[in-house]
Amino acid sequence: MTPCVALIAHDHKKDDIVSLAGEYAQTLRHCKLIATGTTGGRIADTHALTVQRMLSGPYGGDLQIGAMLAEGKVDLVVFLRDPMTPQPHEPDINALVRACDVHDVPCATNVATARMLLDALAARTAAAV
Ligand code: PGA
Repeated sequence: MTPCVALIAHDHKKDDIVSLAGEYAQTLRHCKLIATGTTGGRIADTHALTVQRMLSGPYGGDLQIGAMLAEGKVDLVVFLRDPMTPQPHEPDINALVRACDVHDVPCATNVATARMLLDALAARTAAAV
């Protein structure tokens, strides 16, 4: 089955997630991609990747992704949080990360961990083709 990967980044981390998406484009091309609004727009505009965009994070996008995840529809989350800037939607951010823990879904909150998870996903998708 096609894995579903959620991509989210706070403003100061958007360049990082766009680079990461480019680095793993070959793998991500074989996945269903969902993202919060602005992050998804940046990734889709920069790389030839199809991304289903939710609402922007502060307007409920993290919660939408959390709801999908709770229904078993998300397999991996890359959520590059900005640890240096307070966010107005902190409760939503915590809810999404908590949902990952509740439902045992891998969640990377920094680039180093994201690379490890995406490397594992790349190995799986390569084995599947
Ligand atoms: P954004 O949302 O991609 O719409 O900026 C991310 C977030 O702040 O959670």
